[in-house]
Amino acid sequence: MTYRPADLAELREAMVQSAAVGQLLAVSGAGTASQWGGRPEHDAVLDTTAMSELISYNPTDMTVAVQAGMRLSRLQEVLAEHRQWVALDPARGATIGGIVATADAGPSRHQYGGSRDSVIGMTLVLADGTVARSGGHVIKNVAGYDLGKLLHGSLGTLAVVAEVVLRVHPRPAATATLAVPCDAAAAFDLGGQLITTALEPAAVEWCDGTLLARFDGTARGVADRLARARELAGPAATEGTPEQWRGVDRIVLGEQGDTVLRLGTAPDRTPSLAADLHRLAATYAVEAAMTSTLFAGVHTVRLRGGPAAAHAAVVTALRQTYPASTVCRWTPDLEHEITPWGDPPPAVSLLRAVKRRFDPDDRLCPGRFAPWL
Ligand SMILES: Cc1cc2nc3c(=O)[nH]c(=O)nc-3n(C[C@H](O)[C@H](O)[C@H](O)COP(=O)(O)OP(=O)(O)OC[C@H]3O[C@@H](n4cnc5c(N)ncnc54)[C@H](O)[C@@H]3O)c2cc1C
Repeated sequence: MTYRPADLAELREAMVQSAAVGQLLAVSGAGTASQWGGRPEHDAVLDTTAMSELISYNPTDMTVAVQAGMRLSRLQEVLAEHRQWVALDPARGATIGGIVATADAGPSRHQYGGSRDSVIGMTLVLADGTVARSGGHVIKNVAGYDLGKLLHGSLGTLAVVAEVVLRVHPRPAATATLAVPCDAAAAFDLGGQLITTALEPAAVEWCDGTLLARFDGTARGVADRLARARELAGPAATEGTPEQWRGVDRIVLGEQGDTVLRLGTAPDRTPSLAADLHRLAATYAVEAAMTSTLFAGVHTVRLRGGPAAAHAAVVTALRQTYPASTVCRWTPDLEHEITPWGDPPPAVSLLRAVKRRFDPDDRLCPGRFAPWL
C-alpha cells in the first residue's frame, strides 16, 4: 500500500492513520537514493512526490519555501527566471526532501556548504502525526533548536520532511573550469595553492585523475582568474568542460551492478585513500573510480566489475582505515556479505536515544541504519 499525500494536512492524516494500525513506513521521494544505507522493512510506502508545489518565493528576500516533494531541478527553473539558484549541484530527479534526508551535496559544497547550510526552515511530521516547525524565513534565524540540521542525513528515520525554506543566491553571470590531469597528491597541493591565493574557486574536485576547479563570477573576472590559475598549474592545464563535471555525477550515481561508497576523511588523507583504493582494486581485480570534494574531505568511490565478494573485500579493507564509509549503491548479493554502515561510531548511543525520542515505535524506515539502529 502507498500513501501519497498532496499537502501537510494529508501527510499528517497518513501518519495518524498508519500509527493507528502500527504500520511500518518506507519514506520515499524520487527514489534516486533508495539504496543508501540498509533496506527498510515496511508495510506501506509514504511517497512524498505529490507534495511538489512552490509555497512562496520573494526574490528580493532571497528565500524560497517549497513542499518537500518538489524536485530540485524544477525549483532551479523557477529561480532561474529571477537569475537566482539554490547553491546545490544538479541532482536530476531528486526531491528537496530527499536531498535533506541524505544530506547530499556535490562539488559546490566547497564554497556554499551542503544543503544543511542552505536550509533555513523546515516543517516536519513525526511518526505520531505531531507537526513540528523549526527555523523560519529569515537567514539569520536563531530561535529554538535547529531540527533542520538534525534531520540532515536522517534518511527518513526520524520524521517526514513536509516543507522546506531555503536561502537562494544570485546566479553567477559566468563560470569557467580549470582541468589538470594529476594524481591525488598533486591535486591536493595545487588545489591548496588555488584556495590560498585570491582566486577563490567555487568548487575544487579531484575526479578520476583530474583536478577540476570552477570559477564563478562576472565574465571578465572569471576569464582573468582562469588565466591566472592556468599559469599556476603549468602546461598540463586546460579549460575544463561540462562533460568533465558530468563525470562526477557518473561516479556518484553509479549504474546497475556497481557498488558506490561514500566516505569522509580529513582532507589531507585524500592521497592515501586514493593510493589504498588503487592497491585494493588491483588486489581484488575490480575497477575503481573515485571523486573527492577535496577540501571538504568527502569522497565517493565506485567499484565496477568482479563478484560481490571482491567488492565486499575492498569495502571491508577500506573500512579498517576509513571507518566512516557508507554503502549507497549495492552490487547484487553484496548485502549478504557486508553491512551498510560498518562498525558503530562512539556516539551510537546518542543516535539511538534521538531515534527513540522521535520514533519510539520504530515505524519510520526501520533497518535503514542497520546495524547501528
Ligand atoms: C555530485 C552529485 C550529483 C548527483 N547527481 C544526481 C543526478 O544527476 N540525478 C539524481 O537523481 N541524483 C543525483 N544525485 C543524488 C541526489 O542528490 C540524491 O539522490 C537525493 O539527495 C535523493 O533524493 P530523492 O528524492 O531521490 O530521495 P529518495 O531516494 O526517494 O530517498 C532518499 C532517502 O531520503 C528519505 N526521504 C526522502 N524524502 C523524504 C522526506 N520528505 N522526509 C524524510 N525522509 C525522506 C528516504 O527515506 C531515503 O532514506 C547526485 C548527488 C551528488 C552528490
